[in-house]
Amino acid sequence: MKLVVLKFGGTSIANVSLIKKIASKVKKEVNKDYKVIVVVSAMAGVTNNLIDLVKNTSTSPPYSEYDVVLSSGEQVTSALLAIALDNLGIKARSWLGWQVPIMSDFSYGKAVIEEIKTDQVFEFLKKNQVAIISGFQGVTKENRITTLGRGGSDTSAVAIAAAFSAERCDIYTDVDGVYTTDPRIVKSAKKLDKITYEEMLELASQGAKVLQTRSVALAMKYNVILRVLSSFEDLPGTSIIKEERNMEKSEIIGIAHSLNEAKITLSGVPDKPGQAAEIFGALAKYSINVDMIVQSSSINHEATDITFTIPETDLIIAERTIKEIQNKIGFKKFITDTNVVKISVVGNAMKTQSGIAKTMFETLANNQINIHVISTSEIKISVLISSDYYEFAMRSLHTAFSLDA
Ligand code: ADP
Ligand code: ASP
Ligand code: MG
Repeated sequence: MKLVVLKFGGTSIANVSLIKKIASKVKKEVNKDYKVIVVVSAMAGVTNNLIDLVKNTSTSPPYSEYDVVLSSGEQVTSALLAIALDNLGIKARSWLGWQVPIMSDFSYGKAVIEEIKTDQVFEFLKKNQVAIISGFQGVTKENRITTLGRGGSDTSAVAIAAAFSAERCDIYTDVDGVYTTDPRIVKSAKKLDKITYEEMLELASQGAKVLQTRSVALAMKYNVILRVLSSFEDLPGTSIIKEERNMEKSEIIGIAHSLNEAKITLSGVPDKPGQAAEIFGALAKYSINVDMIVQSSSINHEATDITFTIPETDLIIAERTIKEIQNKIGFKKFITDTNVVKISVVGNAMKTQSGIAKTMFETLANNQINIHVISTSEIKISVLISSDYYEFAMRSLHTAFSLDA
């Protein structure tokens, strides 16, 4: 079966007139004799509104019910697109996550897809043309609905493309490809014709939300042919490709930023073995990803400060968890700062070139921007700075690393 997966994000289907336009776009693939699986997000803004509804109802909602509410946005768009396609004479129907079914684990709010049962949709596509699957959602073995984390429709699309052995997976969005940095913030950002899975993974994991990180990891694992394209214009887009041998040349590929950061400092932590294991072990129990960590040994081996960052969306649960073990750890103060942004310079130049860190820190210093925390890996250098200056910092770094178009 000649099959493609097309995914449309929230801004691409933000209202009925856009949904009708997208229906025509889907029809073009049908006219080329493709069977099409469309994966849709909720209309732009809807998921945020649903989160507010839950928050206004309770500060500690059962996570399973939270996911039922959150997943409802994708139910509406999948059916509206099916109706719009029906209007164009195309044989289509909507599929909710549990109808496919897309089986996931039980981690509500950030569920992991375990298996996609393809039989029913395949059977449907034999006699029909388009299956529209609600993105962002799964179902547990106990028949409870889950969601896959913010931006999770990208992951739904890639997982579906892998499970159905699709010829390719096209991610349609509100920009016409992957850029050297967020083109909405840095006007001189350059569009990339192609980018390797590894580089895209690093950009995404540092906050470039054009693709959800997990979707890139999945595409890499299953060799899914992946493209990012504009929903609104007929332009070439960006292909995500395997690393080619001659691509070893070292470069800075781009700059990413993440607004979803919270800095936590535990001050006055008694300096003895096992403290970090205790703190980070407690957070791991709730699957809270700790990112940057700074701890220095105290001179007199009495007390030290530990500073680390987590996703801001996990702050409430992290605070509750750590305060529960305050007596055991014996730290004095729990201090948080959410007015921070993480900026990362990404690329494999880090492996071979010294001086990248120097350029980064000098650029920030020349602009009087203070660095709170630094972390590095083979392929990126990240700094945590005040959110007051992040757009300015991104533009300055983009220029300093000669990325401007
Ligand atoms: P969708 O709703 O289609 O999933 P998203 O808002 O999740 O769209 O992702 C697209 C957005 O990603 C763009 O509007 C852009 O602001 C942002 N973005 C961040 N970094 C980049 C980058 N390097 N290249 C392109 N877009 C980026
Ligand atoms: N609607 C969900 C969100 O806003 C999933 C997605 O758009 O990918 O996070
Ligand atoms: Mg998205």
